[in-house]
Amino acid sequence: MANILLIAEDKKRELKKVTLNALTFAKQAAEKINGQVIVLAVGAGISKVAEEISAYGVSKVITAETDGLENYIAETWSAVVADVTRANDVGLVCMASTSMGKDLMPRVAATLGAGMASDVLGFDGATFTRTMWAGNAYANVEITTPIKVCTVQGTAFDTAEKAGDSPVESFMPTIPEAKTRFIGFNESVSERPDLTEASVIVSGGRGLKGSENFKLIEDLADLFGGAVGATRAAVDAGWMPNDLQVGQTGKIVASDIYFAIGLSGAIQHMAGMKNSKYIIAINKDEEAPIFEIADAGLVADLFKVLPEITNTIRKEMGK
Ligand SMILES: Cc1cc2nc3c(=O)[nH]c(=O)nc-3n(C[C@H](O)[C@H](O)[C@H](O)COP(=O)(O)OP(=O)(O)OC[C@H]3O[C@@H](n4cnc5c(N)ncnc54)[C@H](O)[C@@H]3O)c2cc1C
Repeated sequence: MANILLIAEDKKRELKKVTLNALTFAKQAAEKINGQVIVLAVGAGISKVAEEISAYGVSKVITAETDGLENYIAETWSAVVADVTRANDVGLVCMASTSMGKDLMPRVAATLGAGMASDVLGFDGATFTRTMWAGNAYANVEITTPIKVCTVQGTAFDTAEKAGDSPVESFMPTIPEAKTRFIGFNESVSERPDLTEASVIVSGGRGLKGSENFKLIEDLADLFGGAVGATRAAVDAGWMPNDLQVGQTGKIVASDIYFAIGLSGAIQHMAGMKNSKYIIAINKDEEAPIFEIADAGLVADLFKVLPEITNTIRKEMGK
């Protein structure tokens, strides 16, 4: 195998932190196969992102920007990634397993005729380890095509450290005629950090009993400048928007502190948050599975204790 190509992801031209976790994977993989890490930043006005990632000591950062790449469309972006792959002796193409990574990389694999592994946790130079069954099983898979593609579970890798300047070069992509056309983008706007980037997350579940009670969750989250999360039960009930769902079919997070409030700890929820560093659970049922992985737990009625806890922390913080 030769070089490793990591696709950088940005939000409004700011590098997404999870790319730095995927970079740690890419560097580890490069050591195993004696290859070099190349980072590709695609999109219009991407030079700021390229500059930022160039401080992480990779063999080079490639920017691909031209008309037609202003807005992400898997069809056009995958063609660009495939062209850069072919032009740079790349044996493994990887990206963080974000919504975009999950959308883009299968198409990259199809374009290159490559085999793919998703949600990868490790690579020993020959086989990829990936999670299955909501994180309850691990599979070792071998990809037999010369070029391999994978998405990387960012929460399984530390954030890469800065490691010296890297050269930045530009690649002039040819944009294929696309069958899809970008029309518009409706983003849910929040003052709170993105779940996948937040160091403190306060999540609520069915125990909150209604959307109005999520104010209790938000109050605690806002004290820390944290993000609000929800279980699928709370999302399905229409109490919280879909993009706040944590779990197997929601966001995979690894915050420094994760408050799990009024949620039972179903395996599908835990699959999305169990890598958080310090988990604090509040549940009135002492048998709730969330207590099995909690670092601190309180068996109590959340409606009694949560306002008290929030007020005490507020006072301690002098807010
Ligand atoms: C294929 C598949 C994918 C799924 N993906 C996801 C996913 O991504 N994310 C996800 O979250 N779920 C997912 N689920 C759903 C999951 O199985 C659970 O149904 C869901 O997580 C339960 O949500 P909950 O913990 O809020 O509700 P419940 O399991 O009903 O738990 C509510 C908890 O609140 C406690 N409680 C009630 N009242 C109070 C109170 N006053 N004070 C304190 N505690 C109280 C109860 O004791 C209980 O433990 C998925 C399921 C399937 C089949």
